[in-house]
Amino acid sequence: MHNKTIVELSADLRAKKYSSEELTRAFLARVEKFNPQLNALVTLTAEHALAAARSADARIANGTAEPLTGIPIVQKDIFCTLGVKTTCGSKMLDNFIAPYDATTVIKLKEAGTVMLGKANMDEFAMGSSNETSYYGAVRNPWDLSAVPGGSSGGSAAVVAARLAPAATGTDTGGSIRQPAALCGITGIKPTYGRVSRYGMIAFASSLDQAGPMARSAEDCAMLLGTMAGFDTLDSTSVDMPVPDYRATLNNSLQGLKIGLPKEYFGDGLDAQVGKVIDGAIKQYRALGAEIVEITLPNTMLSVPTYYVVAPAECSSNLSRFDGVRFGYRCKDPKDLADLYKRSRGEGFGAEVKRRIMIGTYALSAGYYDAYYAKAQQLRRLISEDFKQAFKHVDVIMGPTSPTVAFNLGEKLADPVTMYLSDIYTIAVNLAGLPGMSIPAGFVGQRPVGLQIIGNYFDEARLLNAAHKYQQVTDWHQRVPEGFK
Ligand code: GLN
Repeated sequence: MHNKTIVELSADLRAKKYSSEELTRAFLARVEKFNPQLNALVTLTAEHALAAARSADARIANGTAEPLTGIPIVQKDIFCTLGVKTTCGSKMLDNFIAPYDATTVIKLKEAGTVMLGKANMDEFAMGSSNETSYYGAVRNPWDLSAVPGGSSGGSAAVVAARLAPAATGTDTGGSIRQPAALCGITGIKPTYGRVSRYGMIAFASSLDQAGPMARSAEDCAMLLGTMAGFDTLDSTSVDMPVPDYRATLNNSLQGLKIGLPKEYFGDGLDAQVGKVIDGAIKQYRALGAEIVEITLPNTMLSVPTYYVVAPAECSSNLSRFDGVRFGYRCKDPKDLADLYKRSRGEGFGAEVKRRIMIGTYALSAGYYDAYYAKAQQLRRLISEDFKQAFKHVDVIMGPTSPTVAFNLGEKLADPVTMYLSDIYTIAVNLAGLPGMSIPAGFVGQRPVGLQIIGNYFDEARLLNAAHKYQQVTDWHQRVPEGFK
């Protein structure tokens, strides 16, 4: 059962080949067996899951089931889940039990999905390797000495190791696409505003966006259809109808114009990764697409711009974790100042502190214009690059990440090298565009992801392009040795 896609599982459940309870027990057994080596889940919700599975079975029996009813999933631990611990990978929230569900959690619950547990993640979603989690690093199922990517590394490892058919992720600068690439799965970051951010613990509010991570584009289409939509509880949510993403999956790619940004194929790109991406582009040509070379001239500014904007926003968002309003409280504070200082000092990890300091600095009087205002101007230029490009092409493709998964510990000592792992993904968040990553091959035993970037609200086209590719390739069906 564990090797089937959601589409297949959904059909089997409907045909009563097995019940959701049986399916849920099967996945829970895999979690029990494999999670100790992967550390991909930080909280298991077996009792909740079995209860949800039984009500899904009742819906299937009485004919009120939806396509996702009875399908087990895992939620990234950044989403508030009513009555279930929500840690965001931080000691700060180690004992936080959310009093409400995030909107996406509600939507997935109402569709009848079964939550197996919460996925490990980089602390407050800050990281590209899942090594900043208070709960320890996650291992990549393809090679246990490698990182799974981050910050949705737990979610990606869960799906790659077949511990669940799907998981949710969030992407502020690449955190759905990069771990999807490094773990050989499919993930989509929708247009900013497409999926509600209500109840999703904020990192950088103008960049954060949630999306599904699964085995195939078709499964992502099903999940996104449920997760997306207007929400009055999120003031940046966009009031636009949600298309039926599955309806257009099989559209022909004849004449599709694919832009290849020359900046995504230059220095810094691992030659073997480049070769895999070239192979994928060749495949698209065979599917009828037309390849156009384009330029995104401000690409090199995206990492520095992001590392002003994101820390600035996080320094403001994370001020609520002070031991009074939210979060960990230190023992025996002398006075109020001591309580704030020690609660934050003991509750946050090193990367989070680094970001808060950078952000506070960039926003302070005297430096605001030099850093924050400047970064906002660059952000506009980066968006303009894409605007120009989309006058000529339908989608943009390139590598998701410049390298395959690196080894655990390899980049921890050098934050700038770590930050560069998102060089191809970050601009997409700064512009607010949708982007996805699909498996396109391997270097050795480590997977390579192809990134597909679309124009605003063009998720259907991304999913269509991904699906057609997955119809003629089997990279997305490969299972890591040891997890078959
Ligand atoms: N790796 C990037 C960072 O560390 C992006 C993280 C994310 O998308 N949440 O900020």
